[in-house]
Amino acid sequence: MVMGSLRQEADLVIIGGGPGGYVAALRAADLGREVTLIDERERLGGVCLLEGCIPSKTLINAVELTTAVRDGRRFGVGFDNVRIDPVQLRAHTDEVVAGLTRGIDQLIAARGIDRVQARARLSGPRSLALEGGEASEVDFRDCIIATGSRPRRLAMAEGLPVWSSTEALALPDLPERLVVVGGGYIGLELGLVYAGLGSLVTVVEFEPRLLTGADPDLVQVMVERARGQLDEIQADSRVVAMRHSGGGFVLDLERPGGREQIEADQVLVSVGRVPNTDDLGLEGTSIQLDAQGHIPVDEQGRSCQPHIWAIGDAVPGPMLAHKATREAKVAAEALAGQASAFDNRAIPAVVFTDPEIAWAGITEAEARETGLAVDVGRFPLRALGRARTLGRSEGLVKIIADPDTGLVLGVGMVGPWASELIAEGVLAIEMGATLEDLMVTIHPHPTLSEAIMEAAEVAAGVQVHLPR
Ligand code: FAD
Repeated sequence: MVMGSLRQEADLVIIGGGPGGYVAALRAADLGREVTLIDERERLGGVCLLEGCIPSKTLINAVELTTAVRDGRRFGVGFDNVRIDPVQLRAHTDEVVAGLTRGIDQLIAARGIDRVQARARLSGPRSLALEGGEASEVDFRDCIIATGSRPRRLAMAEGLPVWSSTEALALPDLPERLVVVGGGYIGLELGLVYAGLGSLVTVVEFEPRLLTGADPDLVQVMVERARGQLDEIQADSRVVAMRHSGGGFVLDLERPGGREQIEADQVLVSVGRVPNTDDLGLEGTSIQLDAQGHIPVDEQGRSCQPHIWAIGDAVPGPMLAHKATREAKVAAEALAGQASAFDNRAIPAVVFTDPEIAWAGITEAEARETGLAVDVGRFPLRALGRARTLGRSEGLVKIIADPDTGLVLGVGMVGPWASELIAEGVLAIEMGATLEDLMVTIHPHPTLSEAIMEAAEVAAGVQVHLPR
């Protein structure tokens, strides 16, 4: 794009520099497109890097370290005064984020991608109005919308100084009592961070159980441990009113047993995210948003307007960075005429609680709901040598397979490093592996990965390390 004039021309514009947008920019540039990457923020990386995946996992790592040290007393490892210094932790998190942002900047610059800091809005089917940049209008040949999502707000909390995940991640202070409204993965991860930092944390969830997308047997293992870290978990509870007075909050809860009031010094509202598609000028195109505000696209990311594409949290599907990144590569390749498609069989889900929960493919609950006959093999970590050596033998791995062919349809797990182990399950599903493939693959001993092989043996009914 030529800078300096008011109206400019671009080959491919990408709106949004998160894990969807910046990856699409890199891939498209490598495939010969002239790319203009527009993001209103000063730094690239989007929600994931600046206020999502990366800062949250940096904080979780610190809390897990202190937990490991405390647990280490059982093995004779002792340290006095184990504590987290929030100032140092904040500085470390900022450093991690800054280092990764610099890395993206270098990749973008090395490919000659034109980086524009401005807010973009479609002003016609082939033009963008920019606010805040040098140019005010851009005509484009193709456009990828990768504008991501923002926290969903609670109407009753409008005008109150509650936190969203963004404020919570900045560690502004340590409330003595924190109420987390919403027991999804973000609420639980951040709730456990604050509990680890010393706050008394109550998680309030409207559904009868936490993490409704995951199988209950996996969630149960996490909940049992989390009960020792959180002050309270209030499931089946709806927050019906919220007030702020005298520096604190009062929340009215409606539960099956009646109404209850709880008090808090701070409230973290974590009730989902909404796509950033409402202020994009899409009304000037023929694109119609779906009921959740997502842009409908085909399996390559093309909207009903063939030169407008969309990826990531702005389109249907789980709002996850790795989904955005895969969609980004597919869209860039399809724009270059390649036959790429988002035909993935499994998008892994990971909850970085303690212990971690991860699953991919079909869940046992989904199989039951759809009446699909499946074989399920469960292997408890207490029967696994490596889990015992770590002193973390709570948890399990389960494999869900087709009873006739042995095809692996789903993998679920709860336990240490489930976030890493799930990749083998995803690969198995993606490659069309069978139980036998997992069973005859030699897994290194002693490792947690053996639990996958063992669970496959259980599903096939040939287990050696459990009674038949
Ligand atoms: P985003 O990352 O949201 O980026 C969109 C970008 O577009 C933003 O930078 C924004 O400034 C820009 N933008 C929006 N509108 C405009 C406009 N009109 N003009 C110019 N720029 C615009 N996912 C995981 O996979 N694993 C995790 O562990 C994980 N943890 C998370 C923890 C938290 C606390 C949160 C909030 C999210 C987490 N996520 C996680 C989700 C993940 O962050 C998102 O799925 C991912 O960032 C989506 O990528 P995206 O590229 O679609 O959009």
